[in-house]
Amino acid sequence: MANTTAELDALLSQRSLTDTQLLAATEASADFRILPDASVIKIGGQSIIDRGRAAVYPLVDEIVAARKAHKLLIGTGAGTRARHLYSIAAALNLPAGVLAQLGASVADQNAEMLGQLLAKHGISKVDGAGLSAVPLYLAEVHAVVFSGMPPYSLWIRPAAESVIPPYRTDAGCFLLAEQFGCKQMIYVKDERGLFTANPKTAKDATFIPKISVDEMLAQGLHDSILEFPMLDLLKQARHVREVQVVNGLVPGNLTRALAGEHVGTIITAS
Ligand code: ADP
Ligand code: MG
Repeated sequence: MANTTAELDALLSQRSLTDTQLLAATEASADFRILPDASVIKIGGQSIIDRGRAAVYPLVDEIVAARKAHKLLIGTGAGTRARHLYSIAAALNLPAGVLAQLGASVADQNAEMLGQLLAKHGISKVDGAGLSAVPLYLAEVHAVVFSGMPPYSLWIRPAAESVIPPYRTDAGCFLLAEQFGCKQMIYVKDERGLFTANPKTAKDATFIPKISVDEMLAQGLHDSILEFPMLDLLKQARHVREVQVVNGLVPGNLTRALAGEHVGTIITAS
């Protein structure tokens, strides 16, 4: 096991970049959190923004109040317009990379609208959420809005059996939180959290306040309230070892979740 910079250096210059000993040595190196005080919140596309003013205005008020106590990276989902685009593009036999670009354009539209609503409070929508001036915005106004779709675009790794981009805005927001070593990741959607089945269609579904990734897989809930690949991302995460899904249609839930309260479903890595 290498434990000095020189040993790591030697391994890196001599071995394959997937060599087991080299990988262990890079893993052993010190951990660093880039934005440890920031909280990432994802405002759902279909579940929140598509509902328009009734759902969005109260959340805007909560965000404006919450940023006094928190530093917020606010990502947007895509939603119904993206689903419409995916259905047209898939029927035209276009590939996953093109669909990823189309989906990103809708998450962009939602970020644009949210940015306009928050503008008078000094909160801007940024294009390059992958740093750029983000630390400056967080230091000065405690919040920034970004488009939640990860920028894989044409270079997305396609799913095995579908042209629907597998990494969408749930994954995009999580990856940002994890890479920056953020404090927490909160998904703002339109249900209390995870249920034993989709509460929109299964009336006997029961609420699950807390669950691990492995338990979700064991119960066949991998394709439910969060995008399927999220479970792998969460399980392998170094920094963000749990996420919370809350009902953003209930006033106060986002504020309480930001304060560390358990108001929805907490999904844990282990
Ligand atoms: P977003 O707006 O963030 O994209 P989605 O609409 O994709 O959110 O996901 C949230 C939806 O997931 C809920 O509105 C709910 O109908 C659905 N869903 C499916 N299965 C479940 C489940 N087992 N528990 C809770 N919600 C579920
Ligand atoms: Mg979704």
